[in-house]
Amino acid sequence: MRGLMMDRPLLISQIIEYAASNFPDQEVVSQTVEGELHRYTYRDAARRSRQLAHALGQLGVQRSDRVATVAWNTYRHLELYYATSGTGAICHTINPRLPADQFIYMINHAQDKYIFVDLTFVPLLEKLKDQLPGVAGFVILTDRAHMPETQLPNVHCYEELIAEHPTEFHWPDLDETTASSLCYTSGTTGNPKGVLYSHRSTVLHSFFVLSVPGLGMDEESAMLPVVPMFHVNAWGVPYFGPMVGAKLVFPGPRLDGESLANLMNQEGVTDAWGVPTVWLGLLKHMRSAGERFRTLKQVLIGGSAAPRAMLQEFKERFDVEGLQGWGMTEMSPIGTVSLVRPKDRDRPASEQLDIKCKQGRAVFGVDMKIVDDQGNPLPHDGEAFGELLVRGPAILSGYYENPEANAKAFDAEGWFRTGDVSRIDREGYMEIVDRTKDVIKSGGEWISSIDLENAAVGHPEIAEAAVIAAAHPKWDERPLLVCVRESGSSVDKDGVLAYLSDHVAKWWLPDDVVFVEELPHSATGKLQKAKLREEFKGYTLPTA
Ligand code: ADP
Repeated sequence: MRGLMMDRPLLISQIIEYAASNFPDQEVVSQTVEGELHRYTYRDAARRSRQLAHALGQLGVQRSDRVATVAWNTYRHLELYYATSGTGAICHTINPRLPADQFIYMINHAQDKYIFVDLTFVPLLEKLKDQLPGVAGFVILTDRAHMPETQLPNVHCYEELIAEHPTEFHWPDLDETTASSLCYTSGTTGNPKGVLYSHRSTVLHSFFVLSVPGLGMDEESAMLPVVPMFHVNAWGVPYFGPMVGAKLVFPGPRLDGESLANLMNQEGVTDAWGVPTVWLGLLKHMRSAGERFRTLKQVLIGGSAAPRAMLQEFKERFDVEGLQGWGMTEMSPIGTVSLVRPKDRDRPASEQLDIKCKQGRAVFGVDMKIVDDQGNPLPHDGEAFGELLVRGPAILSGYYENPEANAKAFDAEGWFRTGDVSRIDREGYMEIVDRTKDVIKSGGEWISSIDLENAAVGHPEIAEAAVIAAAHPKWDERPLLVCVRESGSSVDKDGVLAYLSDHVAKWWLPDDVVFVEELPHSATGKLQKAKLREEFKGYTLPTA
């Protein structure tokens, strides 16, 4: 028997209209690319989104057309989020920091019709324009006074484009499963893969995040998404913020510690969202300038593991709650959040930190399972670890136009393979142990490269360590430890192994230890294990 409730769709246009009707005077503040601070209200944001909706029609943008944005976090980008999706077009946010070949690939693969671009990135597009044959035109996100001389063809000025249009617009009643936005996730190898969100998944993801116990976001919150709007919709902040009438504070292009600190204190920011690197810069500034946060209460740290020392410094030095979030572009993106529950708040500080160092408990709407090599479910006992798979209404069911990637991304029951290896404990806390491509598969048992590396850097004379799999005739793979000594140290293999044997299971001990001057790192400072594996390809272990 079917329920007798209205079959009304969940639509993104409803969010901005709801905010305009219920929090009309709530502020949206942006650090603009042009330089000054811009402020307006949700009433204004809705009006201008409706004007932009008309303008898109005038440009010939139709339902399902892809409209690209190459832009910082500002109010104009917010208007693009709502106007493109709201009219049934698809907002394709592009990360301008990706290598040129990937940038070109994404635009051509998505067949973007128009590109809306911030002043900062006009030179980049001028350089690449001849390789983007399908793009009909460009819109520069600025006013007439700041329009640059440009060689871009069919170019428009954003403010002029929208100015002449009415501030009323009738948003279409779309099917809620209509595609709303598109974001490519870049792997370490191969071309980026497109994740195509729907109105339904976007609205549900917002509900799911807002329902996280203890996150406490409402009209009194002032949210600063440092995480870019070109990166998984700034983790959803531009959608769930307006839903609860929170003030939005957009940092534009100024992401250094000092600019962020000033903006936070000036605008009364209570909640900020971003990756560890950003917070490192912010904390460094606060420390050296001897400043305090006037209003900041919570920072959500995600995208990669939140360092323990960072969580501790936020709490103990600045009285700011650091929360860890885990997720993926494929998950809209938030999968888990680690918060100390009320029953644990009386525990010693170090135990509370232990809890926050885990990736956290699933948000509502995310089912998680861990499986062994054969795909058999493993217990959630805090001990067993295996590949983590997820499912839910805000998790992708297939990459955009990419059968090759889809063939590998799901298990037989349709769960999505995250590529992360983790443990889940009895209370539901998930802890990442490794990536599936990094874990060492020794005789059918898995060894966490991350756990071994953490143990190795516990040695006072080891500055940095990386563990990779080396081929072994009997065990398939065995761990090889590659490490950098502290300067002046002459610690040797036996010394390291003796130390490790006190800290890890005997069968986890690396089969060899190699000392190098330095380890390969990416531009963002991440250890490049793929490169290291390449360097040690064909390495013969002494045990082999
Ligand atoms: P995002 O684009 O949001 O960084 P990606 O899809 O590029 O997401 O990368 C997702 C991967 O990043 C995850 O599968 C996981 O390996 C890693 N990751 C994200 N958050 C965390 C976290 N809190 N701790 C450890 N790893 C994380």
